[in-house]
Amino acid sequence: MSSGRLTIDLGAVCANWRALDTVTRAETAAVVKADAYGLGASRVARALATAGARTFFVANAEEGAALRQALGPGPTINVFSGHMSGDTDMIGDLDLVPMLNSLEQMIRHVESLPSHPFGVQLDTGMNRLGMEPQEWSAVREIMLQMSPRLIISHLACADEPNHIMNQEQLNVFKSITSDLNIPRSLANTGGILLGRQYDFDMTRPGIGLYGGHPFDEAQYVVTLDIPVVQCRDLEVDETVGYGNSFTATRPTRIATISAGYADGIMRAIAAGAMLFADGVACPIAGRISMDLIGVDITDLGEDPKDMRLLGAEQTVDDLADDAGTIGYEILTSLGSRYARRYIGI
Ligand SMILES: *Cc1c(COP(=O)(O)O)cnc(C)c1O
Repeated sequence: MSSGRLTIDLGAVCANWRALDTVTRAETAAVVKADAYGLGASRVARALATAGARTFFVANAEEGAALRQALGPGPTINVFSGHMSGDTDMIGDLDLVPMLNSLEQMIRHVESLPSHPFGVQLDTGMNRLGMEPQEWSAVREIMLQMSPRLIISHLACADEPNHIMNQEQLNVFKSITSDLNIPRSLANTGGILLGRQYDFDMTRPGIGLYGGHPFDEAQYVVTLDIPVVQCRDLEVDETVGYGNSFTATRPTRIATISAGYADGIMRAIAAGAMLFADGVACPIAGRISMDLIGVDITDLGEDPKDMRLLGAEQTVDDLADDAGTIGYEILTSLGSRYARRYIGI
């Protein structure tokens, strides 16, 4: 038996994309890096292409190559990490568009694929990827002669609307690109929600498509149901799991479900998260093991076949709060042992 069933609602992904698309007048692209945040880039991107998305972003050329296989010719596939050494064949043969991040990448690109399209990523303060403003001003004129398709930059604090960094990055981006007649893109999901001055020509939502904060009006996308392996009765003072961290204070019924931290269910969620059966919330009993979790089903009054960890009752962001992390990490941690089922398309 697998570790459970991960149901991915592609209808909800498309609805979230459309909802973000209607917020702006810019083109809405889709960020499907890291296998679409763990949910399956081919299925997600094909659904989004049907919904109207024409431009996709991935982290590196390998992801771009796999995505091209899934999408076929037509949609634009942009690569955040640009043109790295060893990428030339993939970029050329599979029609990927690198977002060039440095003078070094620019030289590599023009020497190996002189007439192949590219974009430029500028650093406006995050200090992660992209050309610094000084570097950009030095190469700008040469670069512009080669007609970049797109100029992008990325916001460091977009999920904090009142953070002064947003306005500062916006000002830098405008000041180093305002005189250009080239499409520009600054906003991720959080950036779309900051206000219309962040729209430019294209937006790049990722997490919002998958139902995550800061797009709090999003439809939830992921449901995770985990099978029950066995159930048992405990007397008062009996304990459950490693380290005896749960002790029964009443006659207790425990269900053991077949998933654990090796499936991306972080140990840190044990104190706060619930498992649901027929909408009834049942607390986790004891520590989360590698492949198993004990659940206190005493108040349920019956033995369930499986229990739900993610869904309408408890979202990716709820689990992230329990674990002291972000929804992005919960999603991308969901392991490969689940049976994946796609619905809504
Ligand atoms: C991941 C990423 C995005 C998407 O960000 P979300 O917060 O998931 O919407 C957009 N642009 C860049 C450069 C990224 O790395």
